Amino acid sequence: MRQKRFILQENELPKAWYNIQADMPNRPMPPIHPATKQPLGVDDLAHIFPRECCVQELDTEHDFIPIPEEVLDKYRFYRSTPLVRAYSLEEALQTPAHIYFKNESVNPLGSHKINSALAQCYYAKQEGTTNVTTETGAGQWGAALAYAARVFGLEAAVYQVKISMQQKPYRSSIMRTFGAAVTGSPSMSTRAGKDIITRDPHHPGSLGTAISEAVELATTTPNCKYTLGSVLNHVGLHQTIIGLEAEKQMAMAGEYPDVVIACFGGGSNFGGIAFPFMRHNLKDGRQTEFIAAEPESCPKLTRGEFRYDFGDEAGYTPLLPMFTLGHSFKPANIHAGGLRYHGAGMIISQLLKDGLMRGVDIPQLESFDAGMLFARTEGIIPAPESSHAIAAAIREAEKCKQTSEPKVILFNLSGHGLIDMSAYDQYLNGDLMNYRVTDEDIMKTLQCVPQ
Ligand SMILES: *Cc1c(COP(=O)(O)O)cnc(C)c1O
Repeated sequence: MRQKRFILQENELPKAWYNIQADMPNRPMPPIHPATKQPLGVDDLAHIFPRECCVQELDTEHDFIPIPEEVLDKYRFYRSTPLVRAYSLEEALQTPAHIYFKNESVNPLGSHKINSALAQCYYAKQEGTTNVTTETGAGQWGAALAYAARVFGLEAAVYQVKISMQQKPYRSSIMRTFGAAVTGSPSMSTRAGKDIITRDPHHPGSLGTAISEAVELATTTPNCKYTLGSVLNHVGLHQTIIGLEAEKQMAMAGEYPDVVIACFGGGSNFGGIAFPFMRHNLKDGRQTEFIAAEPESCPKLTRGEFRYDFGDEAGYTPLLPMFTLGHSFKPANIHAGGLRYHGAGMIISQLLKDGLMRGVDIPQLESFDAGMLFARTEGIIPAPESSHAIAAAIREAEKCKQTSEPKVILFNLSGHGLIDMSAYDQYLNGDLMNYRVTDEDIMKTLQCVPQ
């Protein structure tokens, strides 16, 4: 009998996250203050984020960081997630490759973001915080945070990009079901929001406007901390639970991946599945390939530049060393909302610079073709974001067909697409298109990055 799904028992869950910063040949460069250009320390960040998250953010010493028992207890609500051999997809592709996927869509919220939301809310609660705030675009992160805040007894205030709130109304319903206060951004509830609306009364909102409002709320409200769903090092750290489980599950399958693939927004689900395997490249001479799949319309890994840039559109955050398209880059309104971010996280940017991983860019239509094939073979409707990873995995499997190599390919299924069905409708009706960015567009926004 061939085994399809590999599951760990609750007592087999990893008990520590993996901190790749301790093993990197070149450590990531530090975040710096935009005015003084001085590196930021824990104290500079801890008035915005939970302190323990700031400690983890800058920890280059400890390779494994224990997962608090309270967080493990909440992970047991849905972990382990299955590692699945995609036999039907392999058959459809007629490839000799062995394709595995880690199914992070199987949890109360339907995406990997819950793995870090639980950790961040736990640390916020532990230091005496009563309120957390954040921004969300399509709503995956906001929904995960709303759930985690509820779990740990915190009040959550989420600023959702106004236009996304209208396009994806069910995500705000989910957030409100878990008790979060959801506000469309830009709003009149903050000074930043008022300024934006005064300048442009019909502003549709962006992650930039929502970040500005959430940070303002956190810094002006007592006992309120700001949380972030991607990009930062501590978020990637929490997501390594994905790869650490996958490592054990691949061993159950008697295999080890030649290629590890994930879709790429800010880098948290990519880092989550990749870093524990990359550890063996760095320490044990393994030669696994790591591929991050980004949308063609937002190609920071394949066509961006390594620079210090702001993390948000408005320029409120510290300067971060990242592969970036420029913080004022406005990506096309593709359906993979979670991949529309101008830069890559600091760890990933350094790894890319050092040639330890590579990016590929996927056109929107190719991502939906891949998502459809996956749905029709493996029976799971993927999130439009995750379909980029599927497309990249299919490209690799096609190469194996050419060379007759039975490579082992592992990709992360970061979420399901059941709340993105309007996107599938548009695809099925033939109403979707590709958006390739011109070099001129990239040059224009890169020129606005401070030197
Ligand atoms: C947010 C999101 C992403 C992209 O974020 P990363 O930090 O790059 O992982 C990918 N897939 C899904 C389903 C998401 O919700």
